[in-house]
Amino acid sequence: MSWTYLNDIFIPKEEVRISPFDRGFLFGDGVYEVIPVYESKAFLLKDHISRLERSLLQTGINKPKAWNDIPQIIDKLIKKNLFLNQVVYLQVTRGEDVERSHIPDPSIAPTLFLSSSELSINPYRLNPDKPGLDVKIIEDPRWERCDVKAITLLSNIIALREASIEGKDDVIFCIKGKVTEGATSNVFAVFDNSVLTTPESNQILSGITRKHVLSLLGSKGIETLEKDLSIQNLYEADEVWMTSSTKEIQPVKKIDDKELPSKSPKDSLWFDLLSSYLI
Ligand code: PMP
Repeated sequence: MSWTYLNDIFIPKEEVRISPFDRGFLFGDGVYEVIPVYESKAFLLKDHISRLERSLLQTGINKPKAWNDIPQIIDKLIKKNLFLNQVVYLQVTRGEDVERSHIPDPSIAPTLFLSSSELSINPYRLNPDKPGLDVKIIEDPRWERCDVKAITLLSNIIALREASIEGKDDVIFCIKGKVTEGATSNVFAVFDNSVLTTPESNQILSGITRKHVLSLLGSKGIETLEKDLSIQNLYEADEVWMTSSTKEIQPVKKIDDKELPSKSPKDSLWFDLLSSYLI
């Protein structure tokens, strides 16, 4: 049996229900986090909680009543769901309104929902020789607040669906030739001895993995630059990676019709980073 948590109680997945008057259902009025769990311990939890706090502040959604207990709730959920490695989904919506109204009633209590499932191991950890990702470039169709980790992900879903129908593995968004990020990840590119990634702005989500990878690179003495990247830059890079809490680090092999230079994992920086990823 798989367990979830909804507003104070743990409930089996098959039985959990919310009202359609929840603003998350009616408006996508909510924020979320996806937290990986390795050997029953949530990874980089403090960073995820800080980002959630920022998302709540940015959207004016109140903190749930159980705010201070979230780490313990996550621990309990991990224990109940048994898998050694899990992915915890945590969502806070503005709560259940009496009737549908764009202007929220400030007194409603937010809805806190958590679930978890087994974390699939990064396939490049299991088989580093697996061909890199084949990605499609799409002009970024999203809003100007991609820094908010909002549950409203229709643009990302449409883009990923389109890419998947074309047999692609993933999507990289760009604005007028400049890379923003992946549909569910941040993008890095390696040139000679330095590593570039798009700077933080309202056009990207400030990834917890992005921050972790930047810090790992720093501790290895590798130069990192938070600088705009063009699609042309990606074509000319030694390596391109996509990073996220569930992907960790994954190499890209093909961008639209352009194949990147092929490199064995043992000569690649992404592979070296993966081996020191779980600190
Ligand atoms: N950008 C977007 C659009 C994402 O959805 C994600 C994953 N949630 C990321 C970047 C990576 O963020 P993180 O490393 O915190 O998982």
